Amino acid sequence: MDGDFAFQSDELTRSLSLLGERVASGQSVSAASPSFNLPSELPAQGVGGEPALMQLADGFFPPAARLGHAGYFAHMDPPTPWVSWVGALWAASCNQNLLHQDTGSGARDLEEIVVGWLAPFFGMNGGHLVPGSTLANLTALWAARELKGVRRVVASEVVHLSIRKAASLLNLAFHEVPVDSEQRLRSEALNGIDLGEAAVVITAGTAAAGAIDPLDAFPEAAWRHVDAAWAGPLRLTRHAGLLEGIQDADSVAVSAHKWLFQPKESALVLFQKPEEAHQAMSFGGGYLAVPNVGLLGSHGATALPLAATLLAWGREGIAERIEHCMELAEQLASRIAEEPELALFGQPETGVVLWRPRHSSAETVREHMQGAFVSLTQVGDEYWFRSVAANPNADPDRVVDSALAVLKSE
Ligand SMILES: *Cc1c(COP(=O)(O)O)cnc(C)c1O
Repeated sequence: MDGDFAFQSDELTRSLSLLGERVASGQSVSAASPSFNLPSELPAQGVGGEPALMQLADGFFPPAARLGHAGYFAHMDPPTPWVSWVGALWAASCNQNLLHQDTGSGARDLEEIVVGWLAPFFGMNGGHLVPGSTLANLTALWAARELKGVRRVVASEVVHLSIRKAASLLNLAFHEVPVDSEQRLRSEALNGIDLGEAAVVITAGTAAAGAIDPLDAFPEAAWRHVDAAWAGPLRLTRHAGLLEGIQDADSVAVSAHKWLFQPKESALVLFQKPEEAHQAMSFGGGYLAVPNVGLLGSHGATALPLAATLLAWGREGIAERIEHCMELAEQLASRIAEEPELALFGQPETGVVLWRPRHSSAETVREHMQGAFVSLTQVGDEYWFRSVAANPNADPDRVVDSALAVLKSE
């Protein structure tokens, strides 16, 4: 059994090259149905490490959509750089726990360093990592309730569902505000509403359309949280001005597993006053050397793949990739605008392009597209293709040509 926990270089090297082969050989642009050939009950006897991985590989890799494929212009999930894979593997191999300083303080220190690198771009002074913006939003609203006695959450009707979830979990009332034709919260709709006991949630890059709510609005609210899960990383780029005003928020959520190209599950919750916020969500326990802060108990070194990526690329390298994605969205939008058969929802603000065939069902055309893949979203009663520029390798023409080919064959 000793071997299980040791560095078995031959087996490990072979298993890693299996990853290389499988990832390299995959061609499928969209997800196929899984084909695991596994026993229906937990096997009594093990087969050993390499055979176990081989057995899983056949079911795991073939159906996985290639997020870095030229035809993939769909969801907010980016392809991840190899340096982040190695970081994730290191984290798994040491299994440090931020809850227990004595499993190694590296994970904790690194998380503080990485948060220290990123928080200033948002005008925030600290925070911590969580496994997604769903939890970042919940954490931020929890702090709002504890620190400001917030009893209501006010947000636009197209706010991400995680905000409604958070309000429900925290027992806060939810007040929905209408959006304008570009999916932005209509701030004037809040005139006359008492925001004294309210946390206002401002979305920087809505999940469906990438719209940015007015970021400077509602200074009178008891708490202002910006959900920048998707578009937050624009702050590191020449498009930083799009999110001007974010620095006046009390808290900010950013998903690193979206536009910072991280493997799941990686996100930041950032605070204007992190000591206060952390104090308000700090719990001690007899066996804990340091108090447990936030929603998570045991928590590993997700900072490691993020630090590896940020060091490998630098601020400029991150910016270059995101700016390139923004250009791809622009190119896609201009091409769609030129095609009489296609309709464009509006100019993309944060790399999210909504488009559709003018005279055919978006759902049907999407099903028949070859070598390209888009996601689908509903705005009002209409379905639109949703192409999120999370993939720096995406080829806008390939995606449009693929849709036009379906229309021609109809
Ligand atoms: C993706 C997203 C979320 C949820 O983030 P996860 O990281 O998926 O938990 C919340 N808000 C917005 C605007 C998003 O785009």
